[in-house]
Amino acid sequence: MPNIGKMEAREIEELFINVSPTQAGGRLTPEAQKAVLSYSDGYSVCDNCVRPFRLDYIKKPALADFHVEVAEWLNMGIARVVPGARRGFQAIANSLVEKGDPVILSSLAHYTEYVSIEQAGGIPCEIPKNEKNHITAENTAAKIEEVIAKYKKTPPLMYIDHVDYQFGNLHDIEGIAKAAHKYDVPVLLNGAYTVGTMPIDGKKLGVDFIVGSGHKSMAAPAPSGIVAVTDEYADKIFNTTKVSGDVTGRKFGIKEIQIIGCSLMGATMAGLVASFPAVKKRVENWDTEVKHSQIVTDALTDIDGTVILSDNPRQHTLTRVNTKDSFDKVAETHKKKGYYFSAALRKRGICGIIPGTTRIWKYNVYGLTDRQTNYLAESFKAVAEENGLPVSN
Ligand SMILES: *Cc1c(COP(=O)(O)O)cnc(C)c1O
Repeated sequence: MPNIGKMEAREIEELFINVSPTQAGGRLTPEAQKAVLSYSDGYSVCDNCVRPFRLDYIKKPALADFHVEVAEWLNMGIARVVPGARRGFQAIANSLVEKGDPVILSSLAHYTEYVSIEQAGGIPCEIPKNEKNHITAENTAAKIEEVIAKYKKTPPLMYIDHVDYQFGNLHDIEGIAKAAHKYDVPVLLNGAYTVGTMPIDGKKLGVDFIVGSGHKSMAAPAPSGIVAVTDEYADKIFNTTKVSGDVTGRKFGIKEIQIIGCSLMGATMAGLVASFPAVKKRVENWDTEVKHSQIVTDALTDIDGTVILSDNPRQHTLTRVNTKDSFDKVAETHKKKGYYFSAALRKRGICGIIPGTTRIWKYNVYGLTDRQTNYLAESFKAVAEENGLPVSN
């Protein structure tokens, strides 16, 4: 493997079919790879920055247009770029949550949601999932009522994962948002696994904020992401600086407080912008991605004892599976223990499943071709067969 200084060159996406849950939607497009090289130097997108000196006003490269297009694409009022979905949560929470405020979130939420609430001084209050690992409108309403009774105040914010990272289940956002709005609780849609992979219409979903991850789902380098808000909340979330220096009297124009002026000033911005046309196009192919997901899921269930823990039929490319009664049985006696599984897949050019894991694991088939999908499906069955597990079909 070639080295870059003391660092190994990364070749995994060229050499393997990588089904790692987090990597699939973040692989760069060829355009983004080119843009990243071209804009590799420091503050590269700022060459032509002119008054009022803000990232979202830059015309060359076309960052101003990008901001407008992202908002339109999501059917929201205005959009900003942030270094990761987590920084989007932070921007919203810091604007709306006061110390001691209860904040509603899904019990399937990602740690970054909890920590952003913590940073704002809020108290995370979880909506229980139902027996199907779904967050429902009913449970949302019940939780909000319970929280209002306990804290004697209306939660200033609710987070809801469009597709949760644990099961890859798609939740009833329309119903959940409606329930929250009945209590005047604004709704933040966590689209880390959906913005850039699935079509999204913020108005139709009825949400107030949408947060997306560039490096998880928009074919962009890390750290990058977007936050979009309705016109109603634009001034509240993206309010501008009011302070001045007490000695110098200096003021700072229209820098937005939550963005700290500017956020993605170089290669990450270039990558996000360069991939965007392809990203807009690829969300229209979501049905094909889901079909691919089903092909692999069906192959896994052909292996005796394997249980799909996610919704099946699948509605997303991220899937959680229980192989305690299949691949894990082999691990009990195999000389490589659980490592035989990832090793056998690796030999077939497949990586991204945590080495040693044979009990409960996740994979993501997003972006695979038809051929790669079928190859992956056949490979799971082949590894089962060569280890003596019964496989149907
Ligand atoms: C990955 C992920 C995040 C964090 O995204 P970043 O862009 O890395 O900050 C948040 N929520 C969910 C559900 C995720 O899967």
